[in-house]
Amino acid sequence: MLMRMWKDWRRKRFLAGAQVEEAAWREALERLRVCGRLSPEQQKRIRELSLLFLREKRITPLEGLVLSQADLYFLAVQACALVFHLGFSAYDGWQTVYVFPSIFREKASEEGRPLGRGELPGHLAGLAQQGGAVVLAWTQVESGGEDLDDGSNVVFHEFAHKLDMQDGSPNGVPILPADISPGDWQQVFAQAFDDFRRKLESGRKSRIDPYAATDPAEFFAVLTEYYMERPEVIGNEYPELLALLQRYYRIDHLD
Ligand SMILES: [Zn+2]
Repeated sequence: MLMRMWKDWRRKRFLAGAQVEEAAWREALERLRVCGRLSPEQQKRIRELSLLFLREKRITPLEGLVLSQADLYFLAVQACALVFHLGFSAYDGWQTVYVFPSIFREKASEEGRPLGRGELPGHLAGLAQQGGAVVLAWTQVESGGEDLDDGSNVVFHEFAHKLDMQDGSPNGVPILPADISPGDWQQVFAQAFDDFRRKLESGRKSRIDPYAATDPAEFFAVLTEYYMERPEVIGNEYPELLALLQRYYRIDHLD
C-alpha cells in the first residue's frame, strides 16, 4: 500500500513537469486518426498515460528497426487506451517491450526473452510473456493502429494478455475492480466462452475470430480487440459479455 502511494506520488510529480514533443505527438494522433474522437480532457489523459508508458517501459527495437518519437507515441497511445480508466498501475510489474521489424519467429528462453528468428516454426505478430516482456512486430502495430475500427489490433491483444497476467497465469480473469465479483466474471465469461466453442464445433456462424476459442486467455485478448474497435460484434452475440467488459474497461465509446 505504501509502495503504491509512493509510486503514485512519483508519477504525479513526473507528470507535473513532463511534456510531449508536440510535433511528434500530433503526428502520432493523426496516424491513429483519433484527434476528432477525443475531447481535450481525454487527450490530456492519454498524453499523461503515454508519457508514463514511455518513461517506465523500455521499448527495445530489434534487428535494426529504428523507431521515431512519433512511432513511440503511436505505440504508447494504443497501449494506454486500454488502461484509460483502469490506470497505469495495471501495467506494473514488468518493463520491456521488444519490437521486431515485422512478424517474427520466436522461442522463449529460460529467462523469457525472445531468441530471434529460426528457433521454432511459426510466425507471430505479437507475444506477451508472463512476468516478462511484450514482443511486437512493428508492421502489425502500424496496420493495427492505422485502422482502429476493424476489430483487429495486436497491441490491444498483447496488452490484454498483460492485464490478464497481472495476477499470475493467463486464464481470462484479470485483477477485477471492487465492483465486479469474481463470481460475476466467471459466470458471464465462462458461459460465453463455452457457448462460442460449441458454436464453432457445431458449424454455426459467428463474426468473432475463431482464434478466440483457443483458450480463455485468448478469448479475453481477442474479445478485448473487438471491445475496443467493434463492440457491436460482441453485443450482437454476447450482450452480457459486452456489458461485463464495459464494467471492466469503462471506455467511453459505449456510453
Ligand atoms: Zn494471444
